Amino acid sequence: MLTITKEFHFSASHVLDKLPSWHKCSRMHGHNYVVVLELAARPEELTEAGFVRDYADLDAFKTWLDETLDHQHLNDAMGISPSAENMALWLFGRWADRYPELVAV
Ligand SMILES: [Zn+2]
Repeated sequence: MLTITKEFHFSASHVLDKLPSWHKCSRMHGHNYVVVLELAARPEELTEAGFVRDYADLDAFKTWLDETLDHQHLNDAMGISPSAENMALWLFGRWADRYPELVAV
């Protein structure tokens, strides 16, 4: 199995509203997030150019990330309790069809 990864960055606020009120993450705060997409393919699945997927194809994800999540309040923008794990699931669910090689967020 061959894998490629690419890192994306954005900044946003969130509240982890499922935590008890004494937990500091239950208050609004922000992060500079790093999203890593990992894509994989078997050797026989590589493109004719020898790629798991052309990195240029991932530009669409960056554009969407900037428009959808950058400088947003994630609870509102995502409609979930935005823990890192829930965010990864949310992102995977929205991009796995577009990038069938996607194996991890
Ligand atoms: Zn946080």
